[in-house]
Amino acid sequence: MSEPAGPPEEAVAVASAVAGTSTTLEVAAANPLRDPRDKRLPRVAGPCVMVLFGVTGDLAKRKLLPAIYDLGNRGLLPPGFSLVGFARRDWKDQDFAKLTHDAVKAHARTPFREEVWNQLREGIHFVPGEFSDDGAFDALAMALREIDELRGTGGNYAFYLSVPPKFFPVVVEQLRRTGLADAPDGSWRRVVIEKPFGHDLKSAHELNEITNSAFPESSIFRIDHYLGKETVQNIMALRFANNLYEPIWNRSFVDHVQITMAEDIGIGGRAGYYDGIGAARDVIQNHLLQLLALVAMEDPTSFDASALRREKEKVLKAVRLPADLSLNTSRGQYAAGWQGGQKVVGYLQEDGISTDSTTETYAAIKLEIANRRWAGVPFYLRTGKRLGRRVTEVAVVFQRAPHLPFSKDDTEILGQNALVVRVQPDEGITVRFGSKVPGTAMEVRDVSMDFAYGESFLESSPEAYERLLLDVMIGDPPLFPHQREVELSWQILDPIEEFWTTQGQPEPYPSGSWGPPASDAMMARDGRVWRRL
Ligand code: NAP
Repeated sequence: MSEPAGPPEEAVAVASAVAGTSTTLEVAAANPLRDPRDKRLPRVAGPCVMVLFGVTGDLAKRKLLPAIYDLGNRGLLPPGFSLVGFARRDWKDQDFAKLTHDAVKAHARTPFREEVWNQLREGIHFVPGEFSDDGAFDALAMALREIDELRGTGGNYAFYLSVPPKFFPVVVEQLRRTGLADAPDGSWRRVVIEKPFGHDLKSAHELNEITNSAFPESSIFRIDHYLGKETVQNIMALRFANNLYEPIWNRSFVDHVQITMAEDIGIGGRAGYYDGIGAARDVIQNHLLQLLALVAMEDPTSFDASALRREKEKVLKAVRLPADLSLNTSRGQYAAGWQGGQKVVGYLQEDGISTDSTTETYAAIKLEIANRRWAGVPFYLRTGKRLGRRVTEVAVVFQRAPHLPFSKDDTEILGQNALVVRVQPDEGITVRFGSKVPGTAMEVRDVSMDFAYGESFLESSPEAYERLLLDVMIGDPPLFPHQREVELSWQILDPIEEFWTTQGQPEPYPSGSWGPPASDAMMARDGRVWRRL
């Protein structure tokens, strides 16, 4: 159960040694989109096998398989890289290869190149079986030994659990039973767990115990794909690589913070997953509280995993719920309405949802952070389905200037300064401030200054899963939440969920709108409004 993974630099060295030549690095370094001034070696994974459980599922087809291909296309996979799929179908290797090929063609970010595909295809294998079937996992162990011999993957395995959460324990137990979780000296074994990581503090704690009984904490990679997004990592660059914002990033200048993840889609075909979970467990517990932690934490001493996680944990520990949850939280459920010019049904009419379901599809909460930097500054978090538009952003809204030496009329429509990190779509940063309107009067109005990723950088942003899969293979954990962060997040959410269970039906809101009236009322009581997105 040891974890000998070294820092990324070592992984680079291993990769080039296994490649026998520097081919992989050359491919990556010769990328014409790289800035020629960038002399750093690309981060390349060492020899390994990625075992994907649940390979026929939605996530694998839309995100994981295309991301693996994209890594190959960028020269970031070692030549011996092998991909093993596991699911219940009675398939041969070629069936899995076809599924992968179709998924890559449909969803890869980078262009399809025959030579990249052929290289990936050579390492594709499929092992059929049920998670409860010991024989299937014994066959998996044997297949991995054969791959090591044939392809020089050195016993290094990453096990990705892209499976319904109820199967996490049984798969982990199978990996323990077969010895696949134990890394022989000089090799590594890692397990990747998809969200949701539990559905409350108790279940998350139990799951952590099960996972820790098979793998050491350093080998457990809990995926919150938001942390793989360039824009989310850029929050750290914005705050800690500049001197412009940090001096005003505190209660003396910030009025409040709004963190929003709005979706325009409904639950689609995911009724079985979503009902009983709801918006707060699905999004606030992980994505939005992680965003809050990055926005509010103190600067870490370095960007290694333990320093970063320590700061995130400290700030999550300092989060406080408001005393009156009825006034400072709101939940809603989408009703029928119009979206994108189409008539859509309400949540209770969706296939697979019972007509008396109390699951919320919209959640908004107000939190405070009890520390010197943030005391008295509210953090408002909201998320919902079937809202007006798909957008995720963090808005830091600043206090008004203490004195305006202009006439009241001239500044009547001047808002508050704001710095907005646009996470998706249209990734970038907007700064809103007041400016004089051209003319003879001293009229001042809001204007925006924009930074857009697409315009400032030649290279398009990798998909979050590309970055995270590469980090797993390299053994680089800063972008993966630690078990304590996960448990602290549940600790914040559990009392709210408990309160909501006593509140009956969530408030309906029309599809295509911006959520239930109670959410606006919550802001209005504080003299604030939600940003219009
Ligand atoms: P899914 O479409 O339901 O796929 C589940 C996969 O698990 C299928 O490949 C299925 O294979 C396999 N499976 C189910 N029961 C099995 C069993 N008893 N034995 C062996 N294989 C079994 O799920 P998903 O949407 O891809 O989600 C996977 C995980 O990612 C979940 O934890 C989910 O919460 C998380 N996630 C998904 C998304 C997303 O956008 N889809 C986003 C974030 C997180 P067969 O039926 O072919 O055997």
